[in-house]
Amino acid sequence: MSTPQPPHIALFPSAGMGHLIPFLRLAAMLEKQDSIVTVIAARPTVSIAESDHLSSFLRHNPKINHLELQLTPSFRRADSAPVDPFLLQMDLISQSIFLLPPLLSSSSPPFSAIFVDFLLVAEIAPFAKTLQLPIYVLSTTSVAFVSLTAYLPVLASNPAEFNKTSTEIKIPGLPPMAMSSLPPVFLDSSHLFTSIIITNSQALSDAKGILMNTFDWFQPSTLAALNKDRVIKSLPPILPIGPLEPCHVPHDHNGDQYRSWLENQPAESVVYISFGSRTAMSRDQIRELEKGLEKTGWRFFWVLKTSKVDKDDQADAEHFLNESFLEITKNKGLVIKGWVDQQEILEHPAIGGFLSHCGWNSVMEAALQGVPMLAWPQDGDQRLNAEVMEDAGLGLWERNWDWGPNGIVQGEEIEKKIVELMTDEKLRERAKMVREEARKAVGSGGSSDKAIREVVESLHLILTRHAWEQINVLRGEAEAKLPIGSS
Ligand code: UDP
Repeated sequence: MSTPQPPHIALFPSAGMGHLIPFLRLAAMLEKQDSIVTVIAARPTVSIAESDHLSSFLRHNPKINHLELQLTPSFRRADSAPVDPFLLQMDLISQSIFLLPPLLSSSSPPFSAIFVDFLLVAEIAPFAKTLQLPIYVLSTTSVAFVSLTAYLPVLASNPAEFNKTSTEIKIPGLPPMAMSSLPPVFLDSSHLFTSIIITNSQALSDAKGILMNTFDWFQPSTLAALNKDRVIKSLPPILPIGPLEPCHVPHDHNGDQYRSWLENQPAESVVYISFGSRTAMSRDQIRELEKGLEKTGWRFFWVLKTSKVDKDDQADAEHFLNESFLEITKNKGLVIKGWVDQQEILEHPAIGGFLSHCGWNSVMEAALQGVPMLAWPQDGDQRLNAEVMEDAGLGLWERNWDWGPNGIVQGEEIEKKIVELMTDEKLRERAKMVREEARKAVGSGGSSDKAIREVVESLHLILTRHAWEQINVLRGEAEAKLPIGSS
């Protein structure tokens, strides 16, 4: 019998760097495990960072294939009110999704499976079924948020218990969740974000598994609850395969400046401050952060974002900062506006703490490097992520700080928490232990390593069975052509 072909896996991320980056990391991991990998990208992307990152990734990973789903601008709704451009992109993808089956079915060798973003599963499941393609979801958030989204259709159907006056929600098998940790828009099922989540949650049962960028040790009780009781019965297995292996994709224009600055800082002396790829800070909040940083005495590296999409964000950092702040902190701080290689920064020995919005990729990147975090959630899944991060002992979370746009956190409070972050030796030790556990999980034979290998092996088996079915069909056809009695 000839050696079976390696599986050919399609990966389809949705919009935004927080979704693209984990997909590309998984693509590189699968390619190293001898799979044939094709990334499907919706074009045009929302941000310049996404198109730069994708191009640079493909240039540096020439064995990974690429298909484009061209979004047609005329599909944009004429009546659409101002809406988050990343959510609007989801709407565009769904309107252009009919272009996907021809892309999928014309591929050679044929696809063995498709790994999709949670936000696309409802759109893709029907095609995957027709093409007999197993479908896996790659989730880009915490297991806590996955359990919430999986249960959201049930919550939304019960407004008597799920409303503005509720203080907590109860999901079967899990401890109660504080209502204040849920994105407020979840109370409005007509909101685009909420309706996208509900639709996709209802389609999760079509997936063979949900791959999670996390590891067993980090969220053991929620993982066990989900896999035992499955929160909702139809939920497929939850497969922790993280932290996803870093994969450096150089497309930062400020790289030389911050690399040489970091080289000159003492070990663990710098607070790294970043709120991810799409969270902008208001001018008033920038002022307070300046005050806090001026006073702490700690060195800092602040990645400043002032608009959600980088296309609208052209002015220099100085334009948004006080001259006196720049003068006072010129020997101890660096502010960069623009894309940086966060993974590389977190790996640098000078970094001693991470003030973060707690986007899930950031949490896993800090876990892999053992960098203590100070959580300052701004939106979406970030409060639940912060709670998970704190429970795992990776960092601190000041729960009284409001969601991003709702209230201004004062400079003195920021200063106090930064000092706590940078001087808590127990926290530093604990963060190093998290790093050891994360590395064990992804190391050879670790829980995450085993989980991803098993998925890939199962696709080999499916392919082998397909190959045998094909052989049997051909054999049957050949036998039918033979004269009777000659076999
Ligand atoms: N990131 C980066 N450079 C930046 C901003 C963000 O490399 O200047 C990366 C970060 O390392 C992470 C991703 O972008 O991998 C952001 O994802 P996360 O889930 O942390 O937050 P989001 O941007 O989705 O809110």
